[in-house]
Amino acid sequence: MQTTSSFANLGLSDPLLRALEAEGYATPTPIQQLAIPHVLGGRDLFGCSQTGTGKTAAFALPLIERMRARPASRAARRCRTLVLAPTRELAGQIHESFVAYGRHAGVRAAVVYGGVSQRPQADALARGLDVLVATPGRLLDLVGQRLADLQGVEFLVLDEADRMLDMGFIRDIRKIVGMLPKTRQTLFFSATLPAEVRSLADSMLRDPLELTVTPQATPAETVSQSVFFVPQREKRAKLVELLRDEPMARVIVFTRTKHGADRLQRDLDKAGFNAAAIHGNKSQNQRERALDAFKSNRPPVLIATDIAARGIDVDGVSHVINFELPHEPETYVHRIGRTGRAGQTGEAVSFCDQEERLRLRAIEQLLRREIPQRNTPPDGPLPTEDEPRSPPHQRQGRGRSSGSRSAGRRSRGERRSGGGRSAEGRAAERSAAVTAGSSSRASTPAVASAAPKVRSIRGRHRRAL
Ligand code: AMP
Repeated sequence: MQTTSSFANLGLSDPLLRALEAEGYATPTPIQQLAIPHVLGGRDLFGCSQTGTGKTAAFALPLIERMRARPASRAARRCRTLVLAPTRELAGQIHESFVAYGRHAGVRAAVVYGGVSQRPQADALARGLDVLVATPGRLLDLVGQRLADLQGVEFLVLDEADRMLDMGFIRDIRKIVGMLPKTRQTLFFSATLPAEVRSLADSMLRDPLELTVTPQATPAETVSQSVFFVPQREKRAKLVELLRDEPMARVIVFTRTKHGADRLQRDLDKAGFNAAAIHGNKSQNQRERALDAFKSNRPPVLIATDIAARGIDVDGVSHVINFELPHEPETYVHRIGRTGRAGQTGEAVSFCDQEERLRLRAIEQLLRREIPQRNTPPDGPLPTEDEPRSPPHQRQGRGRSSGSRSAGRRSRGERRSGGGRSAEGRAAERSAAVTAGSSSRASTPAVASAAPKVRSIRGRHRRAL
């Protein structure tokens, strides 16, 4: 069968092929095709790639295979594969992927992150693990209490390294890497390549294969887009009408502000819809509950801010609704990439107030095409200037270093604080805000459309940490 043969050609064994078939993965994505054979061969990897390209499977599959090839008994508090991720959401998703791909391979995996009780995490560690996915702060806490021991790590993955640096985790990462055995295989991923990321990679990798997977800057063909011209005050009613009248399986509604997300949730609740909101002010538990419910289809409507939505990866989203248009056109591409994933079709509907007409124009310029209109735009001149844009420090590129510095200055205690608007959440927010413009991850079948470049950087033998 095509499904299995193409992954099988990459050298994956039957238990993994069966899991992939169950996941519905038909063919390996470009980064999977390129990375898997090399990781299987034991090579270090430097992947410049974003979420949405299939990178999780690109590292998880060969690492599971590597562990299977050399079975070892599990030791209490130890793991063989350690994956470091910047946020709890991303860590949770990577953990889920290991569980899904490794379900026939007898993989035991656990995830640890801050803001929740450490008890179940310590219990999972006590039993011994194959794979541990962790955010840096909580991992160091557990190591400090001797509840985790990193001496057995054979494989290290650092995911979204640029975001980790933005969030001020650099010292934590260096500390963790310093505790690991020197002989190991390291896989390093980052969406962007600022100098700090380069230098961190140089210090951790040995003769890595370097892969660059560039997602296209335009939305996938599988997403059909349209725009409604609606005055701001009528948007709520319009949304309710759409939710009632159009068949939708799973909907993400994007609002620009947290306040707006909460208000909309209350309004939709009143109108009889089971909606959940997710943003940086929600506690970890609230966010997890909202996401779980959304995945299990209980509330088919998830209201999200851009920041909170970053890193969330849910299959089967049929509709993305832009309740407000974003300031940065790239954010629009990012948002609508939440639907039409993995070959499925999706719809993106945007609400555009008179004040937002210039933002719509900027989006159309980026897309180099007009978005089909579902009603006639109101008469009247376009506003001469859009609302004030986000301050420079929150915008693409320029703010990165200031964001990272301020994130870095916070104390660890603050970063790890759990409920309410956690510092981690705030840092994630900042980081997402500064990168939203540059990460024109048209996400979706970036899987299908990514254009990978392969380059091997030799002569990088330093492993100073
Ligand atoms: P990632 O970049 O790892 O976050 O993956 C993005 C999405 O693509 C996830 O929903 C994966 O389940 C999905 N995916 C990964 N690899 C494949 C594949 N070979 N075929 C179809 N979907 C995939």
